[in-house]
Amino acid sequence: FFSSDLIRATLFPGDGIGPEIASSSKRYQFMSLPIGFLSESYPSLPIGFLSESYPIFSAADVPIEWEEHFVGTEVDPRTQSFVTWESLESVRRNKVGLKGPMATPIGKGHRSLNLTLRKELNLFANVRPCYSLPGYKTRYDDVNLITIRENTEGEYSGLEHQVVRGVVESLKIITRQASLRVAEYAFYYAKAHGRERVSAIHKANIMQKTDGLFLKCCREVAEKYPEITYEEVVIDNCCMMLVKNPALFDVLVMPNLYGDIISDLCAGLIGGLGLTPSRLDLLIPLAFIHSLNIGEGGIALAEAVHGSAPDIAGKNLANPTALLLSGVSMLRHLELHDKADRIQDAVLKTIAEGKYRTADLGGSSKTSEFTKAIIGHL
Ligand code: NAD
Repeated sequence: FFSSDLIRATLFPGDGIGPEIASSSKRYQFMSLPIGFLSESYPSLPIGFLSESYPIFSAADVPIEWEEHFVGTEVDPRTQSFVTWESLESVRRNKVGLKGPMATPIGKGHRSLNLTLRKELNLFANVRPCYSLPGYKTRYDDVNLITIRENTEGEYSGLEHQVVRGVVESLKIITRQASLRVAEYAFYYAKAHGRERVSAIHKANIMQKTDGLFLKCCREVAEKYPEITYEEVVIDNCCMMLVKNPALFDVLVMPNLYGDIISDLCAGLIGGLGLTPSRLDLLIPLAFIHSLNIGEGGIALAEAVHGSAPDIAGKNLANPTALLLSGVSMLRHLELHDKADRIQDAVLKTIAEGKYRTADLGGSSKTSEFTKAIIGHL
């Protein structure tokens, strides 16, 4: 039942607030019920949810039809996870997807949901945009950078063991193949998005072999992009420079662990200024952080970085911004830049105006009111 002039994308509404914030964005959809799907597992879904309620993508006339997949309620033996094989196949087939937050099921004998997606789809690069929000006072008003994190190796290789009692060892794996792959993507991204500089972040003065190899690969790729300025910055210096003047950076590419730390540091740069109670300071970046995961064969899976927020689920209180901006990243990946710009502008204008803001931004609007205001701007 798909029409040929629409691009098909996989949608994981996810758990908790996921379905509420996903219903803000979608347009057409095709339901696919995975093995083990039980409707009782979504008690917070209002009847009629599946007939879509606040279609921001529709208002922006985005030519996407969603193939919707839910996390199963039983472990799928083929994936050893609550993520089903059919869901993975959908992303592999469509090559693009949008993912809401997924609650981590408690218990043993299964793989984590996010780990399953990362491993099975070989999501090797994690791209996180970080920019100041116009009209929303934050520590800096000129942040506009992209962190690109290698996502498959480094200290996250899971190779840890005890040598003798009281001594443990952890192996950091850096390969030429994975380093070249992420460096290639960083330069491709910079060029495709009109960015001027790529900074490789490292600690090669100490980790001479591992980070040394990472840098060697970045240099090799940099030679193919003479129009992009390439520089190398030691991680500790990078942290200080980011905190003092984030405008110094454009695109940053780095091994796994550094990417984990630096991307959160960057999120903090656009956090609130203490105008709101301190707890909200923490939430503001949460509601905005989104990322795009790039996998083998050109797969792109965009995701909101926050969790399923069980404390506010089903209450029409969630801020859909992170998922919407994830959708924007997905549209940019599809080179639908005019649609992406329209939605991003409408979201940012709504926040800047300040009339409709959800509670995490210090306002009192419901998810639906905030969404309607965005549609008004479209
Ligand atoms: P959380 O991000 O769900 O919530 C932390 C706080 O932020 C809560 O007070 C919540 O209300 C608030 N919050 C989060 N997103 C919000 C939004 N869009 N609008 C307004 N407020 C928002 O983190 P948690 O409580 O540690 O985790 C809850 C569940 O989510 C767990 O099962 C966890 O495993 C899962 N989780 C999933 C992902 C993911 O899928 N990427 C990431 C983090 C946590």
